[in-house]
Amino acid sequence: MPENLSSRRKRPTWDEYFLEIAFSVAERSTCDRAHVGAVLVRDKRILSTGYNGSPAGLPHCDEVGHLIVDGHCVRTLHAEQNAIIQSALHGVDSEGATAYVTHQPCLTCAKMLINAGIRRVVYAGNYPDAYSRQFLAEANVQLDHMTRPGSTGSVSAPEPDAAP
Ligand SMILES: [Zn+2]
Ligand SMILES: [Zn+2]
Repeated sequence: MPENLSSRRKRPTWDEYFLEIAFSVAERSTCDRAHVGAVLVRDKRILSTGYNGSPAGLPHCDEVGHLIVDGHCVRTLHAEQNAIIQSALHGVDSEGATAYVTHQPCLTCAKMLINAGIRRVVYAGNYPDAYSRQFLAEANVQLDHMTRPGSTGSVSAPEPDAAP
């Protein structure tokens, strides 16, 4: 490719590509306290996707409001949980996969990702949780932070008291 063409268009890396897809997935979220998306990937193939929302068939926060317990909305499953469940539901092996997530996983999701055989987590925003980082590190799950492709700064993170 001529030099002037290659400099005009920057092709996304695989990490940028799948992380951007996670942001598209997050747009389906039904809890506006945080729109989170997750994509499980292995060998450059998407195994499953998930966003935070109510269990299938139950009313959404968008329709009936949040269900707040101890400062968290407990109506929804988290994006990572839904991605893992979709993988299990459809019989797709998640062993050795990478999880691309719009936010850093919470501790519960970190534990589930570990047991789902996820070996690497790439996330964009922040969801400060020291235990989550510690658990992932102890389980030898690689945790990589990336700025969202095309964004000027970090993505909007939920306030600590507005966790999903
Ligand atoms: Zn909610
Ligand atoms: Zn979570």
